[in-house]
Amino acid sequence: MADKKVKSDGAELFWRREQGWDKLARGEEKKLERYCAEYIGFLSKAKTERLVHDYMLDLAQKAGFQNLEQVNAEGKKLKPGDQVYRSYGGKTIMLMRVGKKSLSTGLNLVGAHSDCPRLDAKPSPIYQDDDLVLLDTHYYGGIRKYQWVAIPLAIYGVIIKKNGEKVQVAIGDDAQDPVFVITDLLPHLEMEGDKKTLATGIPGEALNVLLGSRPADSKKGEKEVKDRGKLRILNLLKERYDIEEEDFFSSELEIVPAGPARELGLDRSMILGYGHDDRICAYAAAKAILDCKVVPERSQVTLICDKEEIGSYGATGMDSSFLENTVAELFEACGAYCGLNLRRSLERSKMISADVSSLHDPDFAGVSSPNNMARINCGLALTKYTGSRGKSGASEASAEFVAEVRKVFNDNKVHWQSSELGKVDVGGGGTIAHLMARYGMDVIDCGVGLLSMHAPWEVAGKLDTYMAYKGYKAFLEYDF
Ligand code: MN
Ligand code: MN
Repeated sequence: MADKKVKSDGAELFWRREQGWDKLARGEEKKLERYCAEYIGFLSKAKTERLVHDYMLDLAQKAGFQNLEQVNAEGKKLKPGDQVYRSYGGKTIMLMRVGKKSLSTGLNLVGAHSDCPRLDAKPSPIYQDDDLVLLDTHYYGGIRKYQWVAIPLAIYGVIIKKNGEKVQVAIGDDAQDPVFVITDLLPHLEMEGDKKTLATGIPGEALNVLLGSRPADSKKGEKEVKDRGKLRILNLLKERYDIEEEDFFSSELEIVPAGPARELGLDRSMILGYGHDDRICAYAAAKAILDCKVVPERSQVTLICDKEEIGSYGATGMDSSFLENTVAELFEACGAYCGLNLRRSLERSKMISADVSSLHDPDFAGVSSPNNMARINCGLALTKYTGSRGKSGASEASAEFVAEVRKVFNDNKVHWQSSELGKVDVGGGGTIAHLMARYGMDVIDCGVGLLSMHAPWEVAGKLDTYMAYKGYKAFLEYDF
């Protein structure tokens, strides 16, 4: 819809990308604003993949989705219109609605990821250097390290104690909480540092989070303890969470930007937030399936997975057998599991790999392919292929499937635009698309374009944010 013919002397000559605001249907702007306000609330709260999972699980349960594993354990059978979910590892979750057609005719799938670039605490993280107590980190995903210094940070995650008890950690977003920071060099002393590049100025090992500076109280007559600053921090952690230093070995602590997502710009046309990639698509995919009220022809699936930012490896990533295993469970619940029918179902499925794309940024026009880059608020970005260099590593959608998706969007007044990550040979990237395509299904990358992708604070257009929801819903409901 965004690539539109423009009339010149009465003749339709060119295709042009257009801002979507003027083309919204009557009353749609209100819906858009309401949706974006809810999304801002979600993004401000769900700052880890575990929290996204818990949020989605809660939404699904409230909407009447049943636990698929329990359905099978009890030997219940599902009928068209029934809704189930499967949760795995507390991180990956799949929501499903059974359609009228048999599962072997294929599923309509929208898959997004909930993990975001961040800093993880190392297994033995707390140490004292001079008078400062610091948390040693290992960065996760592709970050530009210099962006993470001198900004307020929060710590989220879980610590599993010796006795198996799970401690939830969330410090830095409550108004009463302290925040954390990684220090940077003052400009007065950076003459040597100035010669370094953005990539080498802040090395990974320098990403140490400042936790404290005050020594533990020393009692009279007591022997002097070394690292009394660290002792105070450990004492505070003991008091608040009843944990010991060894418990950090069995923890997952993520350091993320502190503060809520916000409306951006005097015109409030954008959203600034941590983790748009890919929670903006994950939220849209989940809301879309929840809001499909009619019993569908083809079964619908929304998949929210983990580990995309580090290559999708691991049990909760899409390189695992989670999708296959879950669809097998669904077959069992819909009648009986049959290996051949499972394969047929996956091969005949249609999928949107719901992940973000980059927007053309006039400040960095040198890395853009101007005619092929998405623009802010010109609609949902359809990316035919990703990869790098000569499309290496790309899962390219076929012309036939692009035509089908284009029709779904046009028929449902979803504003969309074509998109490429950037100029040929300057870089590249990938998504979960190729891992789904190995089953033989049609897959296309389709998501919201961002400015400052992977930065602590990313920028998204409100119209694009809403169109992701509208587009995914239309796709899930379509009878291919
Ligand atoms: Mn992504
Ligand atoms: Mn990413």
